[in-house]
Amino acid sequence: MATNNGEQNQTSEAGRHQEVGHKSLLQSDALYQYILETSVYPREHEAMKELRELTAKHPWNIMTTSADEGQFLNMLLKLINAKNTMEIGVYTGYSLLATALALPEDGKILAMDINKENYELGLPVIKKAGVDHKITFKEGPALPVLDELVKDEKNHGSYDFIFVDADKDNYLNYHKRLIDLVKVGGLIGYDNTLWNGSVVAPADAPMRKYVRYYRDFVLELNKALAVDPRIEICMLPVGDGITLCRRIN
Ligand code: SAM
Ligand code: CA
Repeated sequence: MATNNGEQNQTSEAGRHQEVGHKSLLQSDALYQYILETSVYPREHEAMKELRELTAKHPWNIMTTSADEGQFLNMLLKLINAKNTMEIGVYTGYSLLATALALPEDGKILAMDINKENYELGLPVIKKAGVDHKITFKEGPALPVLDELVKDEKNHGSYDFIFVDADKDNYLNYHKRLIDLVKVGGLIGYDNTLWNGSVVAPADAPMRKYVRYYRDFVLELNKALAVDPRIEICMLPVGDGITLCRRIN
């Protein structure tokens, strides 16, 4: 019977997914593979595939946006007709390319990262896809750039979409500035808000060092977003969790 099988499945899988930091938030790896193989890979843009494969060879590849999240971002941007966007945390540019491919020809992305080398690794693929003209890359920490943008009133309410995927200990500092820069009705997406599943782990659970370090900042962010009256939110278990915040006033 379907229900019994489902329950048995859950029980047998449970033991395999107790380690904090398991990469999949789904019931099983098989289910995640099913999503990738059925809906994501067969429709992935050839440049996205090339960039994903190139990034997989890089030593920090754990940082890349997953292919299913890339597909989600691409569709989301089209659904909201995004034109003026921002990305904090580029790495080799997988989410950046997903964004650039979704925007109209005259669409814009202000992309920021402290590391330009990794961006330049992916840039030839972005160029080959013919979407690099939409991107302005700024090397360096994002916070001072945001401070400059906020100083000029004409930037207020000017962004349709902002993707935040960088230093988790700064997300609340970003939020303070981004809330002025995103337009009313626009979206901010905070990435990794389920933080490897560690948000529900007991404080003494075994965790990788960086997971433990950033965990409290993610917990604090999630609490703050949940009670922020300026936004509506939706926390999605895509990738490592993404919280969409729609500015309402
Ligand atoms: N969105 C990327 C992708 O799709 O591959 C992944 C981004 S990766 C998880 C995080 C990035 O944030 C790193 O490339 C890192 O250099 C960058 N970063 C860390 N601190 C930063 C800061 N203060 N300002 C801007 N970028 C920062
Ligand atoms: Ca991420």
